[in-house]
Amino acid sequence: MTDAPVEGGWEPNWVEAEGELCRLIYFSRLAGRISKVDLKNILTRSRVNNARVDVTGALCFDNRFFLQILEGRRLHVNRVFARIVGDPRHSDVSLITFTPVAERLFPSWSMMFIGADQLTRDTCRRFCGVEAFRPERLTAERATALVRYLAEGAPKVLVEETEGTAEETTKETAADQA
Ligand code: FAD
Repeated sequence: MTDAPVEGGWEPNWVEAEGELCRLIYFSRLAGRISKVDLKNILTRSRVNNARVDVTGALCFDNRFFLQILEGRRLHVNRVFARIVGDPRHSDVSLITFTPVAERLFPSWSMMFIGADQLTRDTCRRFCGVEAFRPERLTAERATALVRYLAEGAPKVLVEETEGTAEETTKETAADQA
């Protein structure tokens, strides 16, 4: 099939250009300290930005490490991830997987949040193999299973309901204190 000529030249097929539906999973480490207000701002910004380009997903944060799943058309997931990688609020961003998928895990969530309360010792032992949230131990399958498992029981408006103040900062990581 050939594209019909259009005035001004070739008209790109945007569905093709945007690429197939993909899932990207990465983890990273909190850089320094973060307040609940900062975290809320990240989530608010993420939800607005992601909704614009039909990117959905979930963010886990145990006050030390982030684990995030992003789903959407390849082009948009790439762009969102490129911004995230350059964000000074976290470091050591490590990609776990970026792969085509048949369907989304969380189609109605521009960014679901799963916090430290959900990342219990039992849950961490079950998925990370140790009693602490250690996302570097997760394969793509385990990361997906963990987030699915937590999403089923996670309060869906966790951070929005929090009356955070700048003083309510999270603990520095053991690595930060070392
Ligand atoms: P603005 O929000 O207006 O920010 C402009 C610039 O200032 C950006 O470069 C931003 O990084 C920087 N900035 C803003 N606030 C701060 C601050 N407090 N400290 C340092 N720099 C700051 N964004 C998404 O769109 N989708 C996501 O799913 C997403 N997930 C994220 C997950 C994590 C763990 C982190 C740390 C960030 C995430 N972000 C996400 C935010 C992302 O990194 C960018 O900050 C954001 O996309 C930029 O949005 P904006 O272009 O509207 O710019």
